[in-house]
Amino acid sequence: MNKLSSPSTPMLIERKSLGTKPKAHSGMPLTTRLDAHLGYQCNNNCLFCYFRERKNQRSPLPTEKAKRLLRLIKKLGIETLELTGGEVTLRSDIMELISFAKDDLGFKNISIITNGSRFCDDAFAAEAIRRGVDDVLISVHGHSAELHDRLTDRKGSFDEVSRAITNVFNAGASCRTNTVVNKLNHRYVSDIAQTLHHLGLRKINFIFFSPLDDAAHLQEEIGVRYSDAAPHLERMIDRFRDKFETMSVKAVPFCFLDGYEHHITNFWQNLYDPCEWDFFNRVRVRRSRLIRDVSVFTGLLFFMDIRRMLRIGRRKSYAEAIARFQSFRECRKSSACRLCKYDKVCPGVWKAYARCFGLEEIRAVPGIKIEEIDFSVKDRFDKKLLSLRTE
Ligand code: SF4
Repeated sequence: MNKLSSPSTPMLIERKSLGTKPKAHSGMPLTTRLDAHLGYQCNNNCLFCYFRERKNQRSPLPTEKAKRLLRLIKKLGIETLELTGGEVTLRSDIMELISFAKDDLGFKNISIITNGSRFCDDAFAAEAIRRGVDDVLISVHGHSAELHDRLTDRKGSFDEVSRAITNVFNAGASCRTNTVVNKLNHRYVSDIAQTLHHLGLRKINFIFFSPLDDAAHLQEEIGVRYSDAAPHLERMIDRFRDKFETMSVKAVPFCFLDGYEHHITNFWQNLYDPCEWDFFNRVRVRRSRLIRDVSVFTGLLFFMDIRRMLRIGRRKSYAEAIARFQSFRECRKSSACRLCKYDKVCPGVWKAYARCFGLEEIRAVPGIKIEEIDFSVKDRFDKKLLSLRTE
């Protein structure tokens, strides 16, 4: 048994990782961004929502518990806090929590994920940003009121996101968007990009619908085949790649967008994408330290290569180990994958996707095997964008 996988190691992970600099490795640094999930309450009713069934059954986290959560996240060494729900801005204590995170805990960056329904009020946007919000990530699922409002199942929501984006820029914060790619909007991704560009956005994400949590049974109803959406995404990237600082496409295997792979962030690339969450610490926060440590230990033992561990160092090995173990539980690959140049950097497709659509559309991409998980993120996030971590 090697040193990295000795049984005592996982129990020491948290203490050792606090206050120590990650071992130098020429690749991307691990992300230091983490979400604080503050409750499921939401005023939209998105057709693809991961919390659709539980969102109005649970009350939001009480203020003191929310503060305790933020304290824990800070203690884990997280630099960028991302407040999310549900619709986190519906909380009556949201301004208090922003001030607490910025002034009392000293997070370098605070981001909010929102449907725009409070940020469309310019006074609300100005106040949130004055108190410490640096960046607002707004969900935009269509290029028109007809499409967006249909997907959110709430009339007027498109008008709100348009005004929210303007308000965020006017108040001096950074603004990004998330678009969930699904059966109803995948043909219109170029139109959506065009609309976002007109609204002044320069950092946009397209995330494939993933059949997880309450949405696990919705793949057939709202999910889209990767092979159906890919040509539309390729056209969008060709048309708009020079107009945006970053255009990320998330949760799609590389083989469907070969040639456009530098726009892709998949589950394993999340570890190194500065706009994604630190999965290692996320398991600690959302589950428990024990579950995280057992997952890391299992990942190190069964899914990590000793030469890679020696090359990337302890902390990155833990992060990759837990991600690999998670994808072993949640993802599937095709027999073709063994011949694919992305085999070592790709977790495959969600099991629920495979159950619904099968694996026949997967085609191995020939070529020399890529070894570095962060390869697709590295080129996209140059030094200027790495400032997302510290600005
Ligand atoms: S490893 Fe498999 S799923 Fe991943 S990109 Fe290659 S063929 Fe596609």
